[in-house]
Amino acid sequence: MEKPDKNGRFGKYGGRFVPETLTSSLEEIELEFNKILKDKTFWEELTNLQNDFIGRPTPLYYAKNLSLQISQNLWIKREDLAHTGAHKINNAIGQALLAKRIGKKRIIAETGAGQHGVATATACAMLNLECIVYMGSEDIKRQAPNIYRMEMLGAKVIPVTSGSKTLKDAVNEAIRDWVTNVETTYYIIGSAVGPHPYPYIVREFQSVIGIESRKQILEKTGSLPDYVIACVGGGSNAIGIFSGFIDDEKVSLIGVEASGKGLNTDKHAATLTKGSIGVLHGSMSYVLQDDYGQILEAHSISAGLDYPGVGPEHSYLKDIERAKYYSASDDTALKGFKLLSVTEGIIPALEPAHALGFLIDWCKEIPKNQNILFLLSGRGDKDMEIVSKKMDSN
Ligand SMILES: *Cc1c(COP(=O)(O)O)cnc(C)c1O
Repeated sequence: MEKPDKNGRFGKYGGRFVPETLTSSLEEIELEFNKILKDKTFWEELTNLQNDFIGRPTPLYYAKNLSLQISQNLWIKREDLAHTGAHKINNAIGQALLAKRIGKKRIIAETGAGQHGVATATACAMLNLECIVYMGSEDIKRQAPNIYRMEMLGAKVIPVTSGSKTLKDAVNEAIRDWVTNVETTYYIIGSAVGPHPYPYIVREFQSVIGIESRKQILEKTGSLPDYVIACVGGGSNAIGIFSGFIDDEKVSLIGVEASGKGLNTDKHAATLTKGSIGVLHGSMSYVLQDDYGQILEAHSISAGLDYPGVGPEHSYLKDIERAKYYSASDDTALKGFKLLSVTEGIIPALEPAHALGFLIDWCKEIPKNQNILFLLSGRGDKDMEIVSKKMDSN
């Protein structure tokens, strides 16, 4: 798999569009990260934590009932079974260890659904680091249980009331904090976004999903999957699993964004489908913006996909057509949510429910009995309230 070039670019995407005060810190992070890539003791420590703390490898599960129903072979990579209930922990622990190496003891993070906040608070509790989490006040309303979890873990949650009061504003606030406290502070970004080297770091820490699932599906079926499918918010779970298959040209890679209330409304988060090239949070990528380059508000029923940008590597994979990107609406996600729960006894997070809902309709158009590897990025406990309210009103 390709590394970003020396300027941190995937094709023309990525780079480092930041205030000068952050440049030396980003260079330091890049230097240390390149060092640990070759450092056996770092990976030993990380692997031990992945196994004994996160509970890796997560299982690869053959969804028998749903496979029958859709006439396909559906394999589910169970990141919902990772400690704290989503893939975010893979990155949070990797970066917290990196921060320790660099000697920073104050950690800041942004969070949308609260999953990255919980993962970071968990990593910080375990590694004895101070933790401050920025979260949009709109998201705080949508995801109350995760606020209690972060506080229980000893983190301080700071509500963000600017802009749309969601993820993008929380990132703005975290960057503001970082610029001010850069000497003492490490910013653990939660997705494969942000200035170089973050998209690369996050991909490497999430690549464990792809490495495991490639091995598991080969063991179980004797061959590679025909399709790999994952939801795309900032794109970290998707790039994590894609990275395991990107060099296998025969494997089709599919990302599913949130089309919210519809692609033809202004209430969606389909950045790759409807966006244009711009700069957000320090990197160049597809973004949702107006004619003046002002960032638009995104909308999705799931806070984790409610982001008007996307990781630069996905923009690159879209342009070179190595991966294909589609979208699924709020209603399609609810359909996927319900279906996985009743057919397989697994309540998914709303984010991967988008990919599943999309898959159910889309797979009618491909040959039968294909091996489809679906990444279940997280569990749905956090979404029960939203979903039950929606189902009542339908
Ligand atoms: C945060 C989150 C996402 C979206 O983020 P990516 O960086 O695109 O992976 C998807 N699924 C779950 C369960 C999440 O918590």
